[in-house]
Amino acid sequence: MGRNEQSIQLKTLEQIELMRAAGLVVAAALDAMRDAVAPGVSTADLDAVAEKVIRDAGAVPSFKGYHGFPASICASVNEQVVHGIPSTDQILREGDLISLDCGAILEGWHGDSAITVGVGETDPALLRMAEVAEDAMWAGIAAAARGVANGRGRLTDISFNIEKVVRRAGRYGIVDGYGGHGIGTEMHQDPHVLNHGKPGRGVRVIAGMALAIEPMITMGSPRTVELDDGWTVVTRDGSRAAHVEHTMALLDDGVWVTTAHDGGRGRLGDLVTARQP
Ligand code: MG
Ligand code: MG
Repeated sequence: MGRNEQSIQLKTLEQIELMRAAGLVVAAALDAMRDAVAPGVSTADLDAVAEKVIRDAGAVPSFKGYHGFPASICASVNEQVVHGIPSTDQILREGDLISLDCGAILEGWHGDSAITVGVGETDPALLRMAEVAEDAMWAGIAAAARGVANGRGRLTDISFNIEKVVRRAGRYGIVDGYGGHGIGTEMHQDPHVLNHGKPGRGVRVIAGMALAIEPMITMGSPRTVELDDGWTVVTRDGSRAAHVEHTMALLDDGVWVTTAHDGGRGRLGDLVTARQP
């Protein structure tokens, strides 16, 4: 086992089941926000919706207070890529594209997931970008599932498959400098998961690993800049961006997507562990 592998927290099946419970809370919070998204709604309104779902479930919003972050969600509108701070001043308008990112802690275990949705009538090209990000995320998760099942998986097989799907779909920018991560008793753990790169590199993909996979792509350049608020990441060229995320855990026979209601079965079929109830 390499030095990098030693810093990765491996989970037991019982612990993965706890992560599943946290993941379902996050899924419910995202559902509630998706239903609430409409012209005239503020991103602070959406934050309140998510926080209520999380607290009503007996969980804690993991974003709130994380390195001083003031809210329970990140709401990133249009050219904002990730880490947008919810605000009563930011009112959604018809045609906006919004990424909603949310995390919850239940009994000490984390879930982390994001969706990108249109507000009202939205340019189909933007919705297509969100779909490409989602397809790329699932391709990355599938690569990890195959790798754990055949015993030959490496971390960057995930990265490679994400990039492959995005490149084949069109001329999108793949944001660099941000990416997926290990997750468990903390929201951000080793390893970092790049959204692009050559396959067959990095740590081995093994049972017990839990990772959040989160591609971020843009309609233009992949270059980003952080705003003076110290959080909001926007595209440098002002192009719109999409960001989606799921948390998944690897078992020896496949994957369990803890933040997906169906555990990933609909998208992954037999790549999902038989141990998921
Ligand atoms: Mg997230
Ligand atoms: Mg994350």
